[in-house]
Amino acid sequence: MRVVRFKVRGIDRIGVIEEENVRAVSGSLETFWQLTDDVFSLTDVHLLAPCVPKQIICVGSNYKKHSKEITFEYAHEPILFGKAAHTIIGMNETIIYPNQTSRLVYEAELGIVIKRKMHNITPEQAHQYILGYTCANDVTARDLQLQDKQWLRCKSFDTFCPLGPWLETSLDPQDLAIKSYLNGELKQEARTSEMVYTPYELLSYISQNMTLDAGDLILTGTPHGDGEMLPGDVVAIEIEGIGKLENVVSK
Ligand code: MG
Repeated sequence: MRVVRFKVRGIDRIGVIEEENVRAVSGSLETFWQLTDDVFSLTDVHLLAPCVPKQIICVGSNYKKHSKEITFEYAHEPILFGKAAHTIIGMNETIIYPNQTSRLVYEAELGIVIKRKMHNITPEQAHQYILGYTCANDVTARDLQLQDKQWLRCKSFDTFCPLGPWLETSLDPQDLAIKSYLNGELKQEARTSEMVYTPYELLSYISQNMTLDAGDLILTGTPHGDGEMLPGDVVAIEIEGIGKLENVVSK
């Protein structure tokens, strides 16, 4: 099932995709199962980012080739960092190129949205805590990342976490094609099976160190081939079984 957040006639709603339409549902993102009779054409609604997380927890260097590319040693445990809340934008929204950086890069990532309060779970339990999967772009000011000791600033400028176009709730995340495109040209191409730590292992590890709530977001790391974006560029992230997220970069 594909779950969307969307705006129609000035009101934010939640819905499910039915071919070329979206059917509105009542309730919150975590209790969205009451279908309504309100059906809209997808062309008549504005898609919003598919979740509004309180916490955005990201994983660094989680694909073997990417780890070598940016000269990090393999960690013995997942590398965690965060992004600020105002990084979240949706499909077709604009990535703002901040004045503070001169090297803005895209990172195609599988995003996982949490279904219910998650604390101290095993990898075997992880699937019970997943609301859905989405395409994510972990936009990064790479020059600031190399300059700062902590990664919070370089990852957290407003608009640095495009998500979408929706949540896919029924998906096995363990071997999906993941790609990025810059102005239509293929830039990253890998499979989630190349991750160092699997999505389920990541959820378990994170849950042993902090509690996540319904709607929170995990970014699972990017494969090799991430690269620079300039104002005017169009960047797309595509994940098998989910869809394609597209955003424009602007000063
Ligand atoms: Mg990343």
